[in-house]
Amino acid sequence: LRRNPGEHEFHQAVEEVLGSLGPVVRRHPHYLEASVIERLCEPERQIIFRVPWTDDAGQVQINRGFRVEYSSVLGPYKGGLRFHPSVMLGTVKFLGFEQIFKNALTGMPIGGGKGGSDFDPKGRSDAEVMRFCQSFMTELYRHLGEYTDVPAGDIGVGGREIGYLFGQYKRITNRYEAGVLTGKGLAWGGSRARTEATGFGTVYFAREMARHAGLSLEGTRVVVSGSGNVAIYAIAKVTELGGTVVACSDSSGYVVDEAGIDLELLREVKEERRERISAYAARRPGATFVAAGSIWDVPCDVALPCATQNELDEAAARQLVSHGLEIVAEGANMPCTPGAVRVFREAGVLFGPGKAANAGGVATSALEMQQNASRDSWTFEHTDARLGQIMTSIHERVVTTAEDYGRPGDYVFGANASGFTQVADAMLAMGVI
Ligand code: NDP
Repeated sequence: LRRNPGEHEFHQAVEEVLGSLGPVVRRHPHYLEASVIERLCEPERQIIFRVPWTDDAGQVQINRGFRVEYSSVLGPYKGGLRFHPSVMLGTVKFLGFEQIFKNALTGMPIGGGKGGSDFDPKGRSDAEVMRFCQSFMTELYRHLGEYTDVPAGDIGVGGREIGYLFGQYKRITNRYEAGVLTGKGLAWGGSRARTEATGFGTVYFAREMARHAGLSLEGTRVVVSGSGNVAIYAIAKVTELGGTVVACSDSSGYVVDEAGIDLELLREVKEERRERISAYAARRPGATFVAAGSIWDVPCDVALPCATQNELDEAAARQLVSHGLEIVAEGANMPCTPGAVRVFREAGVLFGPGKAANAGGVATSALEMQQNASRDSWTFEHTDARLGQIMTSIHERVVTTAEDYGRPGDYVFGANASGFTQVADAMLAMGVI
């Protein structure tokens, strides 16, 4: 705490993982002897830089850029970039820390990292976003590389931003190094199903949780928070599997649509026009927009928080439980507060933590890297099938680990223990580095 003052989200993420590890270090005391935990609390490298750029009015703007290269024992640093005004060092460290264990759970050869900026793309023109991205990459490029550090998107960073970032990397380095960024467009080295992967993967994971408990997603009533990349494709997959998504949101409020969210309209509003979620309700008969209050007041069987960290607190969890909630799978990173997780656990709600449930995005990024390395391009069906297999195997791994430690059904423990063990073993094998 003294070494990382004010980094509340980082403390929260570290406490969440360390709180699980008692039984693991009792079984493997050599992890403690080799100070594995202390080492994991300190990122391998933290980069903070100035990002100057000029807005459309000719005014110079200054933002702060970050890249936390957290752990490279399993492979090159891998994790997204977030552009949001709330981003600070503690945010990037929390996300980077989570990413280490998530990436381990995928079984792919990728280390953990995360980055971003306090730049707010909302309301900015394409030209402003481009100039910002070019300036951001003008510093970041020297830290990246196919074998070093491979960023992707996150909140506020989608295909448009990755395009500008990749263009500037290519220009500065004079190298068409496709494997340096993931989430690229299909015409220039991207992978089919990457856009859909985090949302689809979260629902595949929820389906496995349901199946394991003798339940099904078919016929369920589902609430998905957010309406960005993860949320949209979670809604698409739930609908395809026979569930009904009755509500989604953005930071301005939420919409309730008892007939089921109209995916085409949602994509038009959010992806094409970049409008607020109220525009969905304005154009959809029967849908209502709620500006104040919490989306978690809407009763559901399955909750998929897909917006941002700490968006679902203890009070919201109690409300959901009182309405008969059965399953939560985190599409976002750390969206449920520790109090909310406790409520779910006590109520016997199946709870899938983000580092397992939303790992499909980064896993498909690793599949994009494979395609880039082999100069190949797979079909959507093949890539989606690989994603499905990866999510099933993460579920299996988490469940088996929890059972092995006598904690059946404890997905939080299973994910933390399994991810940590793989990383710790690799650290031990490589000596004190
Ligand atoms: P997007 O920027 O595409 O969408 C984010 C959505 O969440 C928007 O609807 C946004 O609303 C809402 N949101 C963001 N911040 C807040 C806030 N402070 N309060 C309320 N709503 C908010 O991001 P993604 O969909 O890519 O990411 C969503 C979550 O999923 C994040 O936690 C991210 O780390 C995680 N994730 C993403 C992966 C990916 O592949 N993209 C992979 C794994 C995890 P508004 O537009 O109003 O801000």
